[in-house]
Amino acid sequence: MIKERINSLRSLMKRDGFDIYVVPTSDYHNSEYVGVYFKCREFLSGFTGSNGTLVVTDDGAYLWTDGRYFLQAAEELKGSDIELMKMLEEGVPTITEFLTDNLKSGSVLGFDGRVFSVGEGLDFEEVVKKTGASIRFDIDLCAEVWTDRPALSAQPVFVLDTKYTGRAASEKLADIRKEMAEAGCTHHIVTSLDDIAWILNMRGADVDCNPVFLSYLLIGKDDAILFVNPDIVTAAKSHLDSLGIRLMPYNDIYTNIGKLPADAKVMIDKNRLNYALYSTLSSHCETYITANPSTLMKSKKNETERENLRETNIIDGVAMVRFLRWLDENIGKTRITEVSAAKQLERFRAEGRGYKGLSFDTISGYNAHGAIIHYEPTEATDIEVEPHGLLLVDSGAQYLGGTTDITRTIAVGPLTDEMKHHYTMVLRGHLALAAAIFKEGCSGANLDILARAPFWDEYEDYNHGTGHGVGFFLNVHEGPQSFHWNSGRRSTLTKLEDGMVITDEPGIYIEGKYGVRIENDLLCVKDKKSEYGQFMRFEALTLCPIDLRPVNFDELTAKEFRTLKAYHDMVVEKLSPHLEPADREWLLNAVKM
Ligand code: ZN
Repeated sequence: MIKERINSLRSLMKRDGFDIYVVPTSDYHNSEYVGVYFKCREFLSGFTGSNGTLVVTDDGAYLWTDGRYFLQAAEELKGSDIELMKMLEEGVPTITEFLTDNLKSGSVLGFDGRVFSVGEGLDFEEVVKKTGASIRFDIDLCAEVWTDRPALSAQPVFVLDTKYTGRAASEKLADIRKEMAEAGCTHHIVTSLDDIAWILNMRGADVDCNPVFLSYLLIGKDDAILFVNPDIVTAAKSHLDSLGIRLMPYNDIYTNIGKLPADAKVMIDKNRLNYALYSTLSSHCETYITANPSTLMKSKKNETERENLRETNIIDGVAMVRFLRWLDENIGKTRITEVSAAKQLERFRAEGRGYKGLSFDTISGYNAHGAIIHYEPTEATDIEVEPHGLLLVDSGAQYLGGTTDITRTIAVGPLTDEMKHHYTMVLRGHLALAAAIFKEGCSGANLDILARAPFWDEYEDYNHGTGHGVGFFLNVHEGPQSFHWNSGRRSTLTKLEDGMVITDEPGIYIEGKYGVRIENDLLCVKDKKSEYGQFMRFEALTLCPIDLRPVNFDELTAKEFRTLKAYHDMVVEKLSPHLEPADREWLLNAVKM
């Protein structure tokens, strides 16, 4: 079946004169998660992982993916004639290197410019310049091969009340127009779905786990156009009218921006815009490249959002406590698997006020599966959680009052000394970062060492960032801030500001044995001002006990002990009034130290 699909693609390539055709994993908005309509690479290759790029030539087909997916891809590509290209492995060319080697003078490189970012498109331009080839990016060949392709998602949107958002959409538009005016811009194109949802105080359901809706927003000096399927915005019609926003069909943006006046100066975010839009735009008017103003604005939660987040984390914490107690009382007695545990947690969460679904697919990994960083149990991989070792559960939900993201690693029975030592190491890193007091102006790169020091002291590490920004009833991963030691990454150099939410999630992964990660969401707030300037600190938003059974208390410093104790005191104080007596009793017992 896959062979036939690749062959049909090849005959279309021949018809249109393409020598190489590239299919990535993306939508028109550079989204992290994509809807079913956009799963072209999966359809053509059979590979279901979340990251991969397919390159088809006249006599070969190649799939690039990263280390998380080598095993899965090898399995899924069997019998397809598609060659697996292991990213970052020695001797494996990058896609750009491969294209450089395989394009000749006169050849044509084809792709759908709507599903590549500006940066990727510009890389391709470099390659064709070097090789004497040319680019054609206005055809989606997959659309012709995929005859029963699902329709574009068209879920209805709704307006999120200012009692949740704390700021009217009209005020947000005014803030953005102020920044446009300062930069001398006449227009601003917003294509990132979470930015559009935030600016307009609207939410949708076109992407799993992300409450966004498919659209593009063109903001002018005093008018604006939302390019969207008109059927999905009926509930927001008067809201949009009051903002002076006109509606046009979703795909009309491509022809519409071609008609912008020649003296227009358009503010764009190169990292969020797709290549097709960028090419059309930059060929006939001036562009001003910067980060979308809304990206920084939405990262700094206002007082209303903060209050909602505090309340939401109580609701989420109650569900977590019920889940942890359920696990404690049933492990070894009833059959519990990774999947059944995740489903039970989802059931508890779904009973919470304002619940709107999960914020990502739950990672529930028992022992060796816990060592696979992005492991999501499926029916095929699911295993029983036995009464020994560690269960890692990374989960979160969407509520009207905010988004949550929490990881707990739970001792489901006896542990080895190595497990306890590593668990304590992760806990120490987590606590040190959570307790940080730092000068205003620090970035995530400055503070990352606090979480990593207990690891580096023993020449160990984890191959992921220590934390990411979290949206407000929006995407669970949102910029611009993050924690990572490597200051070469743009997001780690973003200054941490009052109101930003960021996760604190160090971990350790022992292949074939177990994984440990502990994650809370932190709110960055102003602390005291002294003669040395303004100091900052974090307020823990997540309210859920950290399992103490695996902790080697003699390895904790006095400060780490105090931080842990103070955190648990707060959890008890805030959750107790909302817990059933039996859950409260369980909690009090769980935090005894
Ligand atoms: Zn996270």
